[in-house]
Amino acid sequence: MTQFKPATKALWSGEKEQLSYGATQVPVVHSVSFGYDDMHEWNAIATGQQEGHVYGRNTNPTTQAFEDKVKDLEGAEAATAFSTGMAAISGTLNAFLRPGDRVVTIKDTYGGTNKIFTEFLPKSGVEVVFCETGNHEEMEREIAKGCQLVYLETPTNPTLKIIDIERMAKAGHDVGALVVIDGTFASPVNQNPLEHGVDIVLHSATKYLGGHSDALGGIVCGPKDLIDQVYHYREINGATLNPQAAYFLLRGMKTLHLRLERQNQNAMQVAKYLQTVDWVDDVFYPGLEGHRGHDIAKKQMKGFGGMLSFSVKGGLDTVYELLPHLKLAKRAASLGCVQTIVGPPALTSHVECTPEERAAMGIPEGLIRYSAGIEDIDDLIQDLDQAFAKLPTEALTK
Ligand SMILES: *Cc1c(COP(=O)(O)O)cnc(C)c1O
Repeated sequence: MTQFKPATKALWSGEKEQLSYGATQVPVVHSVSFGYDDMHEWNAIATGQQEGHVYGRNTNPTTQAFEDKVKDLEGAEAATAFSTGMAAISGTLNAFLRPGDRVVTIKDTYGGTNKIFTEFLPKSGVEVVFCETGNHEEMEREIAKGCQLVYLETPTNPTLKIIDIERMAKAGHDVGALVVIDGTFASPVNQNPLEHGVDIVLHSATKYLGGHSDALGGIVCGPKDLIDQVYHYREINGATLNPQAAYFLLRGMKTLHLRLERQNQNAMQVAKYLQTVDWVDDVFYPGLEGHRGHDIAKKQMKGFGGMLSFSVKGGLDTVYELLPHLKLAKRAASLGCVQTIVGPPALTSHVECTPEERAAMGIPEGLIRYSAGIEDIDDLIQDLDQAFAKLPTEALTK
């Protein structure tokens, strides 16, 4: 499938090998074990000399179709799936890090990832250095001091900061570090970090890959020798993707490009609209010319994504007043769904953090994260407009 364009790959990649009985769609294989009448064949598969499945914690045909599809879209040699995005992140870190190692990362990683860095890795004797997100010079200085792993995320959650992937990959490789990136916010439609030199790209498949907020999953893509190590950790640790979830993710991915095309457009239009609203202090969207990371985003992204955030005058009080007025937005955690989702980071991505930690990460109290769905753009803007109109205007002048 390598000769085809991404939208075509999203439909066809990974499927053919898993079809049987003339089925045109990949079956959900619920069988836990896979039996062999030929003992030599069993032996060859169990010892990895021949392709095949032995036990559901290790591999599964439905899950494999999902892995092959994402692998093709990221242009990777190999991929391995996990039960959730957090399992993919912690599994990758656990596969490679050992006591005494040093990790260089940014302050604005996903809230759960930040917890791994602040709470769990230090217990295993791993030092984690947090750099100001978007300060490339600081990161280069810290990386040059020596580290085993550089962990990136771009665009970041929730203020959509942009990191120069190629520049950070080079800095990491100069000191022999492994460079890992969380590509969830962009999805493989809008950004392919392996092309910019990173070793491993991982995703929370729960978000754009699945796209319908009905299945949890995670996936890690990269060269075979590295993915083998991540897979080995996962087969033992047991954070395996459920085949039913793998099916939902596979199904969702067939419309990945159509969805993202619309979500990219909708996010851009909503961002431009928000810039005209009196209540709005700041709009964070990498597609806006005035965004700090716009030039880097233009260089490394194929589309600016469906995520944006904006801060409102009056802080959290305004957030609590405004959001219930929206008719076309789920007030919920998560993102990347076909329906628009809104929420303050304090209740979504950064609910694991204390208010002090959020303040230290530069997350304004009045910030709202907006995950644009695929609704008609006129309806989305009209909906925001009527919600802002319901706010008490005297509060605006305070
Ligand atoms: C949601 C998310 C995760 C965690 O994924 P889960 O599937 O919820 O475990 C990791 N990184 C980013 C950027 C996310 O948005």
